[in-house]
Amino acid sequence: MNTYESLLAAITPTSGETREVFDPATGELIGTAPVQDVAALEATIDKAVAAQVSWAALSDDERRGYLHKAADAIEASAEALAELLSREQGKPLNGPNARFEVGGCVVWTRTPADTPLPVEVLVDDDSGYAEMHYRPLGVVGAISPWNWPMMISIWQIAPALRMGNTVVMKPAETTTLSVVALIAVMNQVLPEGVLNVVPGPGSTVGDALTRSPKINKIMFTGSTPVGKRIIEASANNVTRLTLELGGNDAGIVLPDVDPKAIAEDLFWGAFINTGQTCAALKRLYVHDSVYDEVVAALADVAAKVPMGVGLEEQNVLGPLQNRAQFDVVDRLVEAAKASGARVVLGGDPDRTAVGNFYPTTLIADIDPQNELVLEEQFGPALPIIRYTDIDEAVRQANALEVGLGSSVWSSDRAKALEVAARLQAGTTWINSHGGLHPMIPFGGAKQSGYGREFGVEGLKAVAEPHVISG
Ligand code: NAD
Repeated sequence: MNTYESLLAAITPTSGETREVFDPATGELIGTAPVQDVAALEATIDKAVAAQVSWAALSDDERRGYLHKAADAIEASAEALAELLSREQGKPLNGPNARFEVGGCVVWTRTPADTPLPVEVLVDDDSGYAEMHYRPLGVVGAISPWNWPMMISIWQIAPALRMGNTVVMKPAETTTLSVVALIAVMNQVLPEGVLNVVPGPGSTVGDALTRSPKINKIMFTGSTPVGKRIIEASANNVTRLTLELGGNDAGIVLPDVDPKAIAEDLFWGAFINTGQTCAALKRLYVHDSVYDEVVAALADVAAKVPMGVGLEEQNVLGPLQNRAQFDVVDRLVEAAKASGARVVLGGDPDRTAVGNFYPTTLIADIDPQNELVLEEQFGPALPIIRYTDIDEAVRQANALEVGLGSSVWSSDRAKALEVAARLQAGTTWINSHGGLHPMIPFGGAKQSGYGREFGVEGLKAVAEPHVISG
């Protein structure tokens, strides 16, 4: 078992280029992260190529056993990992935050280990016989973002290892320590060279990973513009891609809801991880007949949820992870205010404070064409749009180029399903928003990406389909 101090000491570089890491809540220096270059990446890829031969030669049960041992190791160091995550990412220990994320890493490591391997008989009759197998691809390059850095890295790592691939992970620059520590803990039990991490800039190390002819698949989670660059970079080698990209999720509230009954779930759908969640509610369309009650009920809940330094147990909302994100939210809320939209709550950050705290913000009576509605603001600000015609609400919900998640809120399931069927998104939730399950495929429609993670689909995504016929 590691303590926070031993974990940090084990990953503090003793040579090479480094970057100082500051707590986004307090500005306090928390550690020093390694920054590697393209030469280090290439050496690591070679190590992963070599290790893949013996890893793929293990039996499936042996690989599953290793994944369970890795999950045990994460569990044994869970509190230390959660503290590091809280200090580096900013998210509180408590609530659906740092401890929750580390717990998710355990679940999302065990589930791919326990999922039966997909081997399918395709044809077995007079016309012939064929079965589909799923072979290892080779080396999987994984690139993760800073919002749920440990959990998203695990989503990429665990299925890839299960299917006989080795992995080279490139974490986001601003959450390097969290991912390096997580991988160090897993490597206490995994064979050498199977799971590797190369921290470094996206524009050099990330780019080189996506161009390498020795990388057989890229699992990328991040913004849509970087996803598009990766499509171009990977074209030369026809590298397989799973792209989990940006979103701007719409929720539609039908006239038959009980506003007080849905307020808490609406709140967490939008504000989990202080809004820094790809599949969080980012635009709420509420029917005119219940608009004022829904806004009031949501404001009642939102005003009581404590935001503050993550290590203080009472807090369940934290700062924004980096100043650039604070500035994006600030700019978009200011634009909404300037347009005459009504600030119900928040919208008044202390820009001189040390921490990147942006207050929980609700903006009502906003023009559906306002930038705060149309852009992915990725923070704790929710625009609430009034509608009278459901067809118009559906049209606006579908009007953007992205389509990750969406939700419909109603006390009539049949009506909710009817509206849900018309929404363009990878997932549409009914009376909740953003809940994920390790066996339910997750991914985006339109420019929110392609490919699916989790469940059997997720295992197939990191394997080469191989038909045996005859
Ligand atoms: P980002 O695209 O800026 O960075 C993501 C990762 O890509 C980082 O590790 C970065 O270093 C790397 N990168 C940057 N340029 C690169 C390049 N040219 N080649 C290869 N790698 C490169 O995204 P971010 O700001 O870290 O994360 C926020 C974004 O991620 C939001 O748009 C959010 O919606 C999205 N996201 C999507 C999902 C999903 O499941 N669809 C989940 C979480 C976050």
